[in-house]
Amino acid sequence: MDYKQSICLNGHQASVNININSVIDSFCTECGAKLITNCMNCDFPIEGDWSRSGAGFVDLTHHDIPIPKYCVNCGKPYPWTQSALNAINEMVNLSELNSNQKDDLKGSIPDLLSDTPKSKLAVFKWKNIGKTILPYIHDIIVEVASESIVKALYSK
Ligand SMILES: [Zn+2]
Ligand SMILES: [Zn+2]
Repeated sequence: MDYKQSICLNGHQASVNININSVIDSFCTECGAKLITNCMNCDFPIEGDWSRSGAGFVDLTHHDIPIPKYCVNCGKPYPWTQSALNAINEMVNLSELNSNQKDDLKGSIPDLLSDTPKSKLAVFKWKNIGKTILPYIHDIIVEVASESIVKALYSK
């Protein structure tokens, strides 16, 4: 890893070219939340861009560096992933479903946010049991889930 990223607690990417050893003490220009460059659980740097001069020339191509959801080192969700998980969880709690249905949906939230072998099952559950909640979590899902999950969830 050559550089690390700075991302605000709400998941806005500020920079992908932070020197691995620098300490950042600033705030998001979009929402004012604190910027982090390392996992808040284990302090491992959030992987950023790679060096562009390795092959003897400077590569000025723009690379899209994705915002990771989970720490590569400890596996804990980053704060923005945790907020999405919490928000969807809260929506399920506020719904009129019975407690078995609520537990079922809550257990499948991580498989909605990331592509896993259980994502199809999660989509199926949400389109059946959770369909009244889906419109309310649309914006969160679009922010964090993959395009294929968004499509599967919100197609008729
Ligand atoms: Zn922000
Ligand atoms: Zn970590």
